[in-house]
Amino acid sequence: MALVEVEGIVLGETPYSESSKVLNVLTKDYGKIGILSKGCRQLKSPLRSVSARFTYGIFHIYYKKEGLSTLSAVDVLDAFPYLLADIEKISYATYLADLTDQVQKQSSVEEVYDIFIESLKRIDEGMDARVITSIVELKYLEALGVRPNIDSCALCGSTKNIATISPDVGGYVCQNCYQHEKIYSDKMIKLVRLFFYVDLAKITSLKVSTSVQKEIEEFIDLYYEQYTGLYLKSKHFLNNLKKLGVGDGK
Ligand SMILES: [Zn+2]
Repeated sequence: MALVEVEGIVLGETPYSESSKVLNVLTKDYGKIGILSKGCRQLKSPLRSVSARFTYGIFHIYYKKEGLSTLSAVDVLDAFPYLLADIEKISYATYLADLTDQVQKQSSVEEVYDIFIESLKRIDEGMDARVITSIVELKYLEALGVRPNIDSCALCGSTKNIATISPDVGGYVCQNCYQHEKIYSDKMIKLVRLFFYVDLAKITSLKVSTSVQKEIEEFIDLYYEQYTGLYLKSKHFLNNLKKLGVGDGK
């Protein structure tokens, strides 16, 4: 087996034997692979600190196309120290890791890898994890092949007098086509489009009121339910956190 270097991020981990772990790593060059980190659960193991979810770096591995590769070392590119010190941020990032794992099965790595990495960087920099999560969810709709129609009315194509956005219709609805869809605020309607197109690597600040953010989340949840069939346990956990009011009013 050849020793190769590959950029990647750990999406999840499972214990393996007494002292090891198998890391579920999304890599730029090989897609998602399983990497055995031998002995990493032992206190003195040099692999201990890099054998965990969100480890992002250059993985030096003995690569095996079929079956498990084996970890030799990792050069960490970003340790996300602020993200990993905050339980709420970790909850959002964990959901994003689970979502990324699901979405990459239905798309190419290139479509999701950079979005996921940039989202972690923005959360680590202190941007609202809740807002960043909505941005990622909207962007992933493209990778899932179910992008909403948010450049014009989904029914007639008009770009004028957009009245609302509707999961049932699949995007914007203009005043002429409007029937009985729920009316969302103008701010929300514009932000959904902005979130979809914004370059995560370039945003420096985004202020979204809690009420508008809730509208966006409602739309996203209904849209995912209707078009993607994805509903993850970690999302359920997040929604329960929101019901308790955690993360509100920031
Ligand atoms: Zn229309």
